[in-house]
Amino acid sequence: MASSKPSGLKTAETVRSEDWADLTTGTSFALLIAPDGTILAANEAVAQRLEIPLSRFVGSCIYDHFPVETAARRRAMAAMALETGVAQSYEDVSSSGNVLDTVIHPVLGADGKAVTLAVFATDVTGQRRIMHERLRMATAIEQAVEAVVIYDTDFSIRYVNQAFEEMTGYSQSEVRGRSGELLYQGRHQQKSLGLIRTAMAEGEAWTGRTFNTRKDGRVIQVEKTVSPIRGRFGVPLGWVSVWRDVTHVAVLEKQLRQAQSMEAIGTLAGGIAHDFNNILGPIILHSELGQTMVPEGSPAHLSFSEILEAANRARALVDQILSLSRKHEADEPVLFRLSSICKECIKFLRPSLPATIAIVEDQRAEDDTILADPTQIHQVVMNLATNAAYAMREQGGTLTLAVQAVDLDLSMRSLFPDAGVGSYVMLTVKDTGQGMPKEHLERVFDPFFTTKKSLGTGLGLTVVHNIVTRHGGAVRLESSPGVGTAFHVLLPRSESPGLVPAETLIASPILGSGQVLFVDDEAALRTSTSMALTQLGYEVTCCASGQEAYDLFRAHPERYALVLADVTMPGMTGLDLARRIQDEHPEARVVLTSGYSDLINPEKARELGLGYLKKPYSTAALGLAVREVLDPGGK
Ligand code: ADP
Ligand code: MG
Repeated sequence: MASSKPSGLKTAETVRSEDWADLTTGTSFALLIAPDGTILAANEAVAQRLEIPLSRFVGSCIYDHFPVETAARRRAMAAMALETGVAQSYEDVSSSGNVLDTVIHPVLGADGKAVTLAVFATDVTGQRRIMHERLRMATAIEQAVEAVVIYDTDFSIRYVNQAFEEMTGYSQSEVRGRSGELLYQGRHQQKSLGLIRTAMAEGEAWTGRTFNTRKDGRVIQVEKTVSPIRGRFGVPLGWVSVWRDVTHVAVLEKQLRQAQSMEAIGTLAGGIAHDFNNILGPIILHSELGQTMVPEGSPAHLSFSEILEAANRARALVDQILSLSRKHEADEPVLFRLSSICKECIKFLRPSLPATIAIVEDQRAEDDTILADPTQIHQVVMNLATNAAYAMREQGGTLTLAVQAVDLDLSMRSLFPDAGVGSYVMLTVKDTGQGMPKEHLERVFDPFFTTKKSLGTGLGLTVVHNIVTRHGGAVRLESSPGVGTAFHVLLPRSESPGLVPAETLIASPILGSGQVLFVDDEAALRTSTSMALTQLGYEVTCCASGQEAYDLFRAHPERYALVLADVTMPGMTGLDLARRIQDEHPEARVVLTSGYSDLINPEKARELGLGYLKKPYSTAALGLAVREVLDPGGK
């Protein structure tokens, strides 16, 4: 028999072969005994088992052939049969541990009394072992953590375990006998099923991930194997499939991928921001200067405007990318009213929107004070509003910016599962534009997801999400194709009375006078900045390195009203320069300029008693920064 087994047997098959072997060895014993135990007749099997020739066995006392204890037990059962006249069936265990299914029939004489006993015993040791093994296996499968489903050869469901019932919502009785196709719905899932069935048709096992539809319609992602079950001689009996729900794993994997791409953006941002800002700086300054040199309304003036606008767009993009970088430190949060930022954004937006788009302000709330970084919140509103405007570019429509106070209690938690219970200010940016198809809803916050081809970066909403969560808020999105979209942004409300940010848009350059020592390793920026400073009324001395600036300053410290220094320079950095100058001349005024640096941020500069000017700067921003340091508090 062993020779018929192919190599690499499946467990199921091995058990089946053994079943058969065990069943064939099950032997039946029959004997006839007198009430005192004398053997009157027996079949060959008994003699063989006891290894005594039948001729010597008949006539002996049956109880002499067993150990004392076993003999006593059997004698007691025989006595019971004799006494009651009723057959006794019981499970006998031999001294060697074999299990015998035993019946003792009393054979009655004419007087109704038992004259002999007929004993039939079947050795069921093998069957019992198999039964126990089966039971153990069945229990293991039934209680396994992983879902198990067994199919017949025609792919109808034969059995499912408890874990399967929980995973799919279908009970054993609901699915038994139904086709396995039940769990594969929709084209995508059926495609996976096609692959599985192809493997099945070839008698091969299949391993992979599929989506499946639960009874309640929810889709789960499942990692599964499907393997053939074969009987003796490789006869196919069906299929066993083991399922593991990886829906939450898939979500985590997606988050990990997203986190990784964010990190990549962060690294990239740090790398390019510095150089990029140095390129943008001269473009902005020169186009501003150029504009002042040509008559307003002339073609050249228009060209400079266009250059300026493009450069400002590029600057916004760098900011966008930078705010995704984890290293980027938020400016110090201040208290302000969300509605004031919205008003500012509308002021910004209105001129750029076509007349077909109406703007509605719905800002009724009085208590809409938040503690946040206004620049970042400005970015959130602008990103949402430009998306909304884009969605309405063809048909026109209404852009609504609403601000309201919201107290999030448990009943509303389901709307914002990411936000805790508490007081918030809610900003809603709503449009009546094209809306989004359902499949985009989950993806719009992914970095680089855009439907605008070369016109989009796919970073706008990523930045929104990032900024909002960093401020302890949450975002919710509603959209229906053809109707429109609404983004709701929750930001934690501050109890303090509403304040309007001190710094609003800078209208016109602030003029001044005095000698400025300007140091930057970028030649283009030296030219443009010195021209801008000259235009603002200052005299300028330029140099290209920290050391050079230090030497110039030490030679004539009284000559310079102000030192304006780039932070990131080879050799002596702007920060080193500032420290050395301050050590020797505590009264000296220094402003640092930087686009992106680990060394310095506005707060740190303030702590060190230094001014700070973010790159790339416009003439106006330059004028303001210089003025503030020279004349703090005054205007
Ligand atoms: P971008 O605007 O550069 O494409 P975003 O992250 O701002 O990147 O937006 C991602 C995508 O989300 C857009 O390309 C668009 O498909 C969709 N989207 C965002 N806002 C809206 C809106 N208000 N209406 C319709 N679709 C929108
Ligand atoms: Mg956008």
